[in-house]
Order: sequence, then structure tokens, then C-alpha cells
Amino acid sequence: RARQGSPDRCEVFDAEHHRGLMNRLRTERALRDAVTEGRLEVHYQPEIDLRDGRWRAAEALLRWRDEQGRLHSASEFIEVAEASGQIVPLGRWVLGEACRVASAWPERDGAAPLLRVNVSARQFEQPGLIADVTQALMASGLPAERLCLELTETALLRDELAAAHTLSRLRGLGVGVALDDFGSGYSSLLYLKHLPIDALKLDQAFVAGLPTDRYDLAIVQAISTLARQVGIEVVAEGVETLQQADALRECGIGRAQGHLFAPAITADAVLKKFGGDA
Ligand code: C2E
Ligand code: MG
Ligand code: MG
Ligand code: MG
Repeated sequence: RARQGSPDRCEVFDAEHHRGLMNRLRTERALRDAVTEGRLEVHYQPEIDLRDGRWRAAEALLRWRDEQGRLHSASEFIEVAEASGQIVPLGRWVLGEACRVASAWPERDGAAPLLRVNVSARQFEQPGLIADVTQALMASGLPAERLCLELTETALLRDELAAAHTLSRLRGLGVGVALDDFGSGYSSLLYLKHLPIDALKLDQAFVAGLPTDRYDLAIVQAISTLARQVGIEVVAEGVETLQQADALRECGIGRAQGHLFAPAITADAVLKKFGGDA
């Protein structure tokens, strides 16, 4: 493709390609020293019960602070970390840190908020995953039942047999599993039939069109009904308006997270804002 058109266009393409590559290398290098230099932070986005408004869980989201003190979201660097394999040690660090933080979350009526941690395909297929999870739980004292790993379809698709095996080992530990970005891929319904899944994170693409888009509304209703009938919790992602929250509640969706309630914030900020109503 780069060969098409005039030589000038070819140079433009190369320059862009080169810039992309340099950015990637720069990100890789920065991430390499991020853990030891203390430049990584885990922020937490609360998940709210749509029926009573209470704080029921929080998702750990990785953040990276650069030399200038600017905070970068995971969406800016996680792909590079996955491609380079750095996600494995980074993910291990997130797991340990988040379990330690969540072990201090307050109980109410005998239950404390659940911790949800993202695990990418590369981490999921890595043989040390079960050992990393066990180690994080032991070191923090967090009960396994309070940890839920968020996986995407891609992680489960790569090697279905190995995935089923890893999922049953996690279940054996007592750790939960959520299917992240549900509905953004395809053929997802089969996973519900064959794999031990505890929760679905409904992709924000479906939430965005609520309450006016008839297709989004129909899809959310169908997923909600299906999940209720097979006993799987649904969490709506990216809820930004009251109207969206109302529509989700009317569809029977139990949980939501999004900027309407709070973005990902520091552990201290979560406790200050929501700690009283866990
Ligand atoms: P995700 O797991 O689907 O996380 C949700 C993303 O949506 C987060 O972006 C979050 O900040 C953002 N978000 C939350 N509420 C709203 C909202 O109301 N509106 C909009 N527009 N966005 C919202 P973030 O933190 O940049 O993370 C991006 C992705 O990076 C995550 O998607 C997850 O797949 C991955 N990720 C984040 N932290 C980790 C980690 O520790 N390990 C691994 N393996 N992946 C991670
Ligand atoms: Mg997630
Ligand atoms: Mg998601
Ligand atoms: Mg996502």
C-alpha cells in the first residue's frame, strides 16, 4: 500500500509509521522503569447498585505518571504493554497492590465491596497466573470470594481448552470471573453456556444509545433477561447520564459504573466518597 501513488505519499506514510514506532519504543522504555521508579498507580472506579445506590465493587484501573507529573490512562499504554509482554509483570504488580488496598475496604451487613481486576489475554495464558493470584490473596489476606478477574473474549478464544482449565482452577480458588466489554465481540453467548462466568460487563457501546436508541434498548433488555435466567450479574459500563441509569434499571440491570457516579479515583478518594455506604 505504501508503494501506491507518488513517492511523496510514500514518504508521508513512512514518516507516520516511523513516528508511531518511536512512540511505541518510548512508551516501552518508560514502562520498563515505571514499577521501580514508583510511576505506576492503581485507581479504582466504583460500581454502584442501581436499586439502592450503594457501593458494591470497584474496578482497578492502571495509571502511569510520567516525568512531568501527568497522569496517563490505561487506554494510552496498555496495548504497548501487551504487545511487548510487559503486561505480565505490570499485571502482577496491579494484582498485589489492588488486593492489598481492597482488603481494607469496610464491611456492611457482613459484606465488603468486591475488587475487579483486568487480566489481558497475554496474562491469562501465562502459566504463572494461578500462582500470582494465590500469592496476591495470601499476602493481602483478601478473601478469594472478594476478587473477580475481568477477561475479554479474546483471552478465552485463543485456546479454549486451556482457558476452560484456567477458569476452573480460578473457580476452585473461589475467585470470580467477569466477561469484560460484553457484546463488543461476537458469539459471546456460547461462553455463558460452557464456561463458569459470574458476571457480564455490558460494553459501553450499548449504554451510549440509551434510552432513545431502540436497538440498544432491545439488546440490553435481551441480555438482562438472559443473564437473570442463568444467574449471572450484569454490570453496565460507561454510564454517564441519569437517563441511562434509569433505562438500565428499567431493563432489570443491577449494577453500573461510569462517570455519572465517579471516574477511576484514588483508593482514598473512593473511601471518602463511598466508604460510608458500602
Ligand atoms: P475496561 O476494563 O473496559 O475499563 C473501562 C474503561 O472505560 C476505563 O478506561 C475507564 O476509565 C473508562 N470509563 C469508565 N467510565 C467511563 C464513562 O462513563 N465514560 C467513558 N467514556 N469512559 C469510561 P482506562 O482506565 O483507560 O482503561 C482502558 C482499558 O485498559 C480497560 O478497559 C482495560 O481493558 C485495560 N486495563 C486497565 N487497567 C488494566 C490493568 O491493570 N491490567 C490490564 N491487563 N488491563 C487494564
Ligand atoms: Mg474492565
Ligand atoms: Mg470493559
Ligand atoms: Mg473496554
